[in-house]
Amino acid sequence: MDRTEYIENAAKHFKELLSQQLDRQERMEKASPAKDFSKMDKIVVGVAGGDGIGPIIMAQARRVLEKLLAEELASGRIELRDIHGLTIENRLAQGCAVPPEVLEQIKACDVFLKGPTTTPKGGTLESANVTLRRELDLFANVRPVQIPEEGIDWMFFRENTEGEYALGSRGIEVPGKLSVDFKVTTDAGTRRIARAAFDYARANGKTKVAIVTKANIMKKTDGMFSRICQEVAAEYPEISADEWYIDIMTANLVNKEVRNKFQVFLLPNLYGDIITDEAAQLQGGVGTAGSANMGAGYAMFEAIHGSAPRKIEKGEGDYANPSSILKAAELLLRHIAMADKADKLSAAMEDCAREGRVVITGHKDGATCREFTDYLLEKLWFRQI
Ligand code: NAD
Repeated sequence: MDRTEYIENAAKHFKELLSQQLDRQERMEKASPAKDFSKMDKIVVGVAGGDGIGPIIMAQARRVLEKLLAEELASGRIELRDIHGLTIENRLAQGCAVPPEVLEQIKACDVFLKGPTTTPKGGTLESANVTLRRELDLFANVRPVQIPEEGIDWMFFRENTEGEYALGSRGIEVPGKLSVDFKVTTDAGTRRIARAAFDYARANGKTKVAIVTKANIMKKTDGMFSRICQEVAAEYPEISADEWYIDIMTANLVNKEVRNKFQVFLLPNLYGDIITDEAAQLQGGVGTAGSANMGAGYAMFEAIHGSAPRKIEKGEGDYANPSSILKAAELLLRHIAMADKADKLSAAMEDCAREGRVVITGHKDGATCREFTDYLLEKLWFRQI
């Protein structure tokens, strides 16, 4: 191909992308409002263990939920429903990241507690998470990070569907010369994540939201993100909306002098992806953090780590840390308007960490996942649950 042909093909490709993105923006504008769980007679919670250490940690999370929700489960207000077939064996056999009958089971629930799922290196199988975020339109990735000894209680709201990820595999290449990727910010996509962050801040008595971009360089996309976040912020006059650039914010998180001043973070997709892992590491590692993926219709809650296949190979699966999936369960409880139960779980986990009688190391020199959960259930019992 000569230069003119490359440019003409790229222009045609770009026209198609732009048209698809405008369709997406219009679909978002028409999306239905979020569910009000406090008014629902029945809430169905889908549960899938996933792969590797997933079923081991999920079995323990289930024990904790069964204890916390004993009354609601008995009355039928809440159902814990097993989702079948979200395993690497079934997904590979069907050549599908999330087979249609599995997706159907998930969609029939109101919320979903998901164990880690393996994505094989190479091949064509897409990540189950990427598929689920897209299929369920889970636009907000929400991740709490707490370091109580420093007074740190952060909540991150990462936009989950746009930015560099919307068209990540659909860039343009002139072989041997150049490559171009696309980054997309939409009005509706930004407005909904901003609203989620400010609603959270208001509901939880937070007074500051940090909007983190690189709007000085990415003038169109991050510029728009920043402007719309400020427009949304104007509806929450009691909350200050402070603008930060991602480079200095990354430094701030490792600066003990300033980091405990932050409360809620609001970020586009890529910056959020990076900085939430940095924050989880500061908290104690990926085994300690949970996250939520929320949309208007569905919400999915999970540990932030993967299926840890080497842990299984080494016979250490039973020693996996369940804290991350338990944090995810806590987020789920908050989401379905059961903040009192979430608070109890969080307090019992803090009791365990403070007292440190049963300690998980992730290896055979520490407690097993079940032993730790027995300890946690004991702490819940002391809190009269
Ligand atoms: P990983 O998170 O599975 O493991 C990274 C390291 O953390 C390993 O040393 C592991 O032993 C340790 N670890 C993870 N969870 C732990 C726990 N609960 N307790 C103690 N130690 C724990 O990351 P990886 O090895 O890069 O990925 C393995 C597989 O998981 C891959 O197929 C990857 O695609 C998948 N993955 C899935 C998700 C998800 O489903 N959300 C997220 C990340 C990775």
